[in-house]
Amino acid sequence: MRELVVATRNRGKIRELELLLQGVVTTVRPIGSFSGIPEVEEDGATFAENAVKKARAAAAATGLPALADDSGLVVDYLDGRPGVYSARFAGEGADDAANNCKLLAELAGVPPPQRSAAFHCVLAFCLPDGSCRTFKGRLPGIILTEEQGDGGFGYDPLFLVTERGESLAQLSLESKNLISHRGRALEAFVQYLKEEETKNVA
Ligand code: IMP
Repeated sequence: MRELVVATRNRGKIRELELLLQGVVTTVRPIGSFSGIPEVEEDGATFAENAVKKARAAAAATGLPALADDSGLVVDYLDGRPGVYSARFAGEGADDAANNCKLLAELAGVPPPQRSAAFHCVLAFCLPDGSCRTFKGRLPGIILTEEQGDGGFGYDPLFLVTERGESLAQLSLESKNLISHRGRALEAFVQYLKEEETKNVA
């Protein structure tokens, strides 16, 4: 694929995508490099709805294929919350510290076996004609009773990756990307692009 618009303004995500799409996409164009594109409100009930809404709007506005992601933390004891509201769990404009504090408060006294959770990511790939495909990634873990580690962002210091015995905030970015919800969804997308390429060459 020659050009792909990435419907995110998050520099970290753009760098991560550029790295993973090397050799599959010639030019990754962040949505911020186009002028006059309005912000999309993330008001969907699911990660997929939000991701599709962002990617579809970007593809329609630019006339190019577009990719968007939506992600968040799903806690079993909280019946799936904060889910699509992960970024604003402690209220509109809440920062990571406030969201983590609320999570600890809501799980106060809950024993480890009942603190299971998972990060979810849905990537949506849309064409200018409005057609879309989605790719999913999930990382299961346990919510800790106190923060551990100072890397990463968001809920990382409270998220124990059971298979590693460390929180996401204790892993290097490279190690996190290999196992993360976003990394897994991206892998599925890259696989799809490679298969499409092979079909077109054959
Ligand atoms: P978005 O996909 O950028 O809208 O992310 C939504 C929210 O989910 C973020 O603000 C974080 O609170 C949380 N989140 C998503 N992915 C991660 C992650 O990899 N680590 C920690 N928190 C995350």
